[in-house]
Amino acid sequence: MFESEQTERSGNDADTCGGKMMKPGKGLLKEMEQYACRHHVPIINRETAELLIVLGRLVRPARILEIGTAIGYSAILLSGILAKGGRIDTIERDEDMLAKAHENIKRAGLEDTIAVIAGDASDVLPCLDKSYDMIFMDAAKGQYIGFLPECLRMLRNGGLLISDNVLYKGMVASGEPVGRKKRTIVNNMREYLDTLRNDPSLDTSILTVGDGVALSYKRLETEMDP
Ligand code: SAH
Ligand code: MG
Repeated sequence: MFESEQTERSGNDADTCGGKMMKPGKGLLKEMEQYACRHHVPIINRETAELLIVLGRLVRPARILEIGTAIGYSAILLSGILAKGGRIDTIERDEDMLAKAHENIKRAGLEDTIAVIAGDASDVLPCLDKSYDMIFMDAAKGQYIGFLPECLRMLRNGGLLISDNVLYKGMVASGEPVGRKKRTIVNNMREYLDTLRNDPSLDTSILTVGDGVALSYKRLETEMDP
């Protein structure tokens, strides 16, 4: 009993990225959480981080695409659940964020694992031609609907699309009228969620974790409705 547990555990370790799993609230990630708090950088919160870790453990992705790097927090976290030899591509358009992300990724010793792609995702996505096991959408909320076709083009069948901030502080789910400025974002997000839910190639579940997380599994050919 004890022996088989041991075997399983070391099996897991062998599959992940050099066993360098960084934990939220510890070491570099803790420092980054404090930096994000001080500078109002909207990184994933603790419960979303924990969700990503569990999902990542289940999917064991070799290739992850992230849209919205910010300071590199979620990318560094996700590097811990990569399959051995796995890679993350992450897109960011803001110069200051890019500088900070490079600095943090270097400090984590993950320059060979995480590729930060500078540019606006609407320009970058059409230029990418890879297949991803997991995609983490975490950029400007009003743009998700525009990014979706490119993401689905690159998400492998059997892969997982995770979209963050889909409930936008409750505004997306509530029937309450929202201020004019936010109305477009909320409407775009509602359209995004409807599109996810109505896509016959996807199974989607929306969780109220953090600021709202949509999980969309892209079906295998054999799992399509007849
Ligand atoms: N994923 C990060 C947080 C990302 S915050 C984490 O949890 O650690 C959202 C980031 O997306 C911001 O840094 C913003 O500059 C970037 N962003 C927003 N819209 C973008 C776009 N269209 N292209 C590239 N980056 C974008
Ligand atoms: Mg987010």
